[in-house]
Amino acid sequence: MRIVLLGAPGSGKGTQSQLLVKTYRVPQISTGDLLREAVASATALGRQAKTAMDQGHLVEDSIVLGMIRERLARADAANGFILDGFPRNIAQAAALENLLAELKQPLEAVVLLNLDLGILFKRLTGRRICEDCGRVFNILTSPPGTPPHCEKCGDKPRLLQRPDDREEVIGKRLEVYDAQTKPLIHHYRENGLLRVVDADADVATVFASLQRAVQGS
Ligand code: AMP
Repeated sequence: MRIVLLGAPGSGKGTQSQLLVKTYRVPQISTGDLLREAVASATALGRQAKTAMDQGHLVEDSIVLGMIRERLARADAANGFILDGFPRNIAQAAALENLLAELKQPLEAVVLLNLDLGILFKRLTGRRICEDCGRVFNILTSPPGTPPHCEKCGDKPRLLQRPDDREEVIGKRLEVYDAQTKPLIHHYRENGLLRVVDADADVATVFASLQRAVQGS
């Protein structure tokens, strides 16, 4: 399986990728996660990326492409991968195409998780992450108990909000998606790779549609 999950922030790419990982045993490669790791370990690259991320802008292509090149070269990606949050613009898509041609591992499908803007906003503002196990919750759409807590880790670990899920940054991220990432829909429809999945349903229903979309490829 060599696929890209395309979709606006909050469309469920991360959650659905994790289910694909469990089912198909190929790694999820999320540039957002790789960048957050670099920020958390305060590498030079992380410091450079942080400003753009905190403001909801895209991080420079050269940084992201370097990360992807390195990650795809690792042994576990030899049998396939799920790209989550990459590519984010046309230049990244072109670079990916070249890289995968070099590796003789062309993409099999690009799946768009399609969701209404109003729902995205609610999903993002409500998103919280357990600081211990990393599980993702939504305090607006599926409240994790009172007081909100992670059922696996109890009420000790805090449920954290990503800095870029703050309301004032979300608008910018959705704007950037519209201007820079949305044109990829047309790009991948033109080259025949695009599949569209309705992401306005519960996790299991979306996953079933996603599997059908992937297997149809
Ligand atoms: P995500 O977790 O995918 O929503 O990404 C969080 C933030 O990381 C984005 O708002 C961007 O600032 C940055 N980012 C993630 N992936 C990319 C990418 N492919 N290109 C540029 N910036 C990215």
